[in-house]
Amino acid sequence: MKILFKGEKGKTEKELREIFKKAEIVSVSNDCFEIKKIKPGVIYNLIPKIENIKNVKKVVAENRELCPLAYKKNYYFKSPINTAEKFVIAGPCVIRDFAEFEKEVFELEKIGVDAVRAPLFKPRSSPYGWEGYGTQGIKKLKEIKKTAKKPFVGELLDYRLIEKTDEVFDIIQIGARNMKNYVLLKEIGMAKKPVLLKRQPKSSFKELLYSVEYLLKYGAKKIIICERGDNLSDGISSINIGIIKKIKNEIKIPVVSDLSHSAKDRKKINLFLNKTKEISDGFMIETSLNPDLSPTDTKQIISLKELKNLIEKIK
Ligand code: PEP
Ligand code: MN
Repeated sequence: MKILFKGEKGKTEKELREIFKKAEIVSVSNDCFEIKKIKPGVIYNLIPKIENIKNVKKVVAENRELCPLAYKKNYYFKSPINTAEKFVIAGPCVIRDFAEFEKEVFELEKIGVDAVRAPLFKPRSSPYGWEGYGTQGIKKLKEIKKTAKKPFVGELLDYRLIEKTDEVFDIIQIGARNMKNYVLLKEIGMAKKPVLLKRQPKSSFKELLYSVEYLLKYGAKKIIICERGDNLSDGISSINIGIIKKIKNEIKIPVVSDLSHSAKDRKKINLFLNKTKEISDGFMIETSLNPDLSPTDTKQIISLKELKNLIEKIK
């Protein structure tokens, strides 16, 4: 961490030494001190205090210092998805009908997807929106899971359902709206299950990093980051290429592009694949055996035939 200041050096150093009891304070130049060997939690909590010192102009803490776990190692993994090779997560926006979903799982496996979306719980922007089958669907999903060969990805909005859904969800999805739900992040971290974390629209790389750090600090070992664009429910297509590149350049955590929620229109899915094909480790795509019957995000859902064509381009 660097502290830029203006004024009398000795005075600033004295004040800094009072704050940093044991840390190593190095004088870098006439207007900069560097603090070494300081714990991330300590850094974060001390920043407001340092900024309050009269002569201090700026405190520069690197992301690596604030979120050391995220930078610590290579987090690519081989199971339940092999994230070292291009992978595809596909399935409905929400399970509409269990018989239909069972058939879809079988078809998706045949096409070669690596994991299946199995959404029982949908966060809805409107309180009048259908929220999926919820807990009532767990029993039926368990039945389907028995014969399924690929892992199921399911979003959880409520940490009290982690145990109840343990058998059905191999990967827990944290939706865009909940990227900053720190209670949920902690509890899902403690569950020690693989997590798919979606970036909240308009949130910065640093905010995303903090959420990743929460998961890691509380026990998660396997994380996939999902980029889904900066527009939530206004029908405007977007995907943040800059964020994907930053993730790839700075940390070693697999990143998937959600083609469906970013494109928001099935006609644009191919275009969004082209934009992200080289830089993403994987892709998330919403599909259905009957796209037009999908109760949610109908316009962006593609058929399995279309998915097959996409997979041929991806793999
Ligand atoms: C989803 O992927 O099911 C979803 C609800 O998307 P998002 O959280 O990105 O809006
Ligand atoms: Mn959707």
